[in-house]
Amino acid sequence: MPSFVKVDKCDGCQSAPRTACQYICPNDLMVLNREIMKAYNQEPEMCWECYSCVKICPQQAIEVRGYTDFCPLGASVIPMRGTDAIMWTVKFRNGMIKRFKFPIRTTPEGSIDVYAGYPAADRSKLGDLWLFSEPETLEVNELPTTKK
Ligand code: SF4
Ligand code: SF4
Repeated sequence: MPSFVKVDKCDGCQSAPRTACQYICPNDLMVLNREIMKAYNQEPEMCWECYSCVKICPQQAIEVRGYTDFCPLGASVIPMRGTDAIMWTVKFRNGMIKRFKFPIRTTPEGSIDVYAGYPAADRSKLGDLWLFSEPETLEVNELPTTKK
């Protein structure tokens, strides 16, 4: 089930120019109704259910109902993000609550070597077919192309 916003909890990210859910959604689905300062998913059928908006929302105002392979039908799944782990709270239909903590990083926050030995990204190459660190990491000199 795609993401949905619990309007009683959403505070519109306190009028920030761009809300946290807008910033994080990889598919640009979240929008803010500035008249009532509530966010919503503008195209639920395009939602990947990736939980990114659920995890970043500072008000815990977004939910994605998981499928039964993930949690029983009707259960809600709420994450609480920490600096090195997420505490997940699963609330079942019968009121039972289960919590588990899942680590999300192996290094201290802010310590990542972004380019990890590779040269800094070159914005002039954004139109190239190569992705960052290619072709070195592909171990080829050119990309395969279809013969005409
Ligand atoms: S991140 Fe949460 S509080 Fe902020 S606008 Fe989106 S739903 Fe509302
Ligand atoms: S679950 Fe993922 S794809 Fe769906 S609205 Fe949230 S961030 Fe976007």
